[in-house]
Amino acid sequence: MARIVQKFGGTSVADLNCIRDVAYRVKKETDAGHEVAVVVSAMSGATNQLVGWASDIGPIHDAREYDAIVASGEQVTAGLLAIALQNIGIDARSWLGWQIPIRSDMLHGAARIESIDGAAISDRMKDGQVAVIAGFQGISPGNRISTFGRGGSDTSAVAIAAALKADRCDIYTDVDGIYTTDPRIAPKARKLSTITFEEMLEMASSGAKVLQTRSVAMAMRYNVNLQVRSSFNDSAGTLVVNEDSVVEKESISGIAYSPDEAKITILGLPDQPGIAAGVFGALADHHVNVDMIVQSASSATKKTDISFSIGRKDLDKAVDIIHKNKAKLDFESVDTLSNVAKISVVGTAMRTQPGVAKTMFETLASIGINLHVISTSEIKISVLIDAEYIELAVRSLHTVYGLDDE
Ligand code: ADP
Ligand code: ASP
Ligand code: MG
Repeated sequence: MARIVQKFGGTSVADLNCIRDVAYRVKKETDAGHEVAVVVSAMSGATNQLVGWASDIGPIHDAREYDAIVASGEQVTAGLLAIALQNIGIDARSWLGWQIPIRSDMLHGAARIESIDGAAISDRMKDGQVAVIAGFQGISPGNRISTFGRGGSDTSAVAIAAALKADRCDIYTDVDGIYTTDPRIAPKARKLSTITFEEMLEMASSGAKVLQTRSVAMAMRYNVNLQVRSSFNDSAGTLVVNEDSVVEKESISGIAYSPDEAKITILGLPDQPGIAAGVFGALADHHVNVDMIVQSASSATKKTDISFSIGRKDLDKAVDIIHKNKAKLDFESVDTLSNVAKISVVGTAMRTQPGVAKTMFETLASIGINLHVISTSEIKISVLIDAEYIELAVRSLHTVYGLDDE
């Protein structure tokens, strides 16, 4: 007998028939004698609609009300799945974040889980009851509903698995595992049987939304046995594993893309200490997340240019902040590119293999793609390109690194 957490994403609970199918997937585990907790997302499209309503009603001054709205989708699916389970003879009960409770910090809209009391659920599971838990939500210190950022049900599932000391955390979704790249844009993407936590962390933070980045970090920290598999077929999924359990790899693991990026270049800044701190401090004060950064200085003019990438949604805000700080920063002008995307090549093999970056740059050059910004980590190389070339870039790199499924 094992203790299992199953998480079903939006497309897996898209309508009542899907929810009935999910109930049978749960039943399969209870029939095998396992203790089961299920974490559900909102029905596909529901959260987008709620986010749309929240922003259309008027400016949001208080993120607590945003959370009160957008958390509601998961409440519906938790109740529906509990009923579907009861109707096939399985003892089940729905749980909202506050009922468990899943305690978070005050960062409404992107709250972090601080603690989970698994005692009540654990007792019920021992008695054979299935816990159906609303993903994505918790309760903040002021006893208000909080949410964990888009895709946050993955993090709910991993956190619950850690709190319940579950033997497995199975993430059911609309693809049957983690692929070398998004199978929706690269038909030759290949399913991986395993991927390391580190690689998945880089893939997720570079745009592969199959797992929320925070869920991977949490699974790594608490050593949660994590796998991604399909809600719609029974094929073997992908296990996320520790690096030491993987035999040495020869190639890179995957390619990720993040489509909604923008680039800002501040030209003619004084080349002196404190300038970068001034730029990025001002942006951080206004919660603008900066990703890739390059600085180029000219010794002749004592001037420097700084380019960086941010999420496209923050572009106007960031430009505004920079202009408001013109007197302090003393720059000449600001240039922007609003339609760019980040392409990242990820793999632990990069540590030992020279030439991965060269291959990337040569490949993109050979198809005429210009690189706006480059950044690297130990196991990742990212470039910023015009968004119109995403598919071409991903597919070409996929082929050149030998990842194509023949
Ligand atoms: P859910 O609603 O189940 O949480 P998501 O839409 O959040 O599902 O995540 C699944 C999607 O992630 C897939 O449909 C796929 O398009 C996308 N995806 C991006 N990169 C990858 C990858 N490397 N492997 C698998 N899926 C990926
Ligand atoms: N329903 C939320 C979202 O769409 C959380 C999730 O599905 O993981 O972002
Ligand atoms: Mg998701």
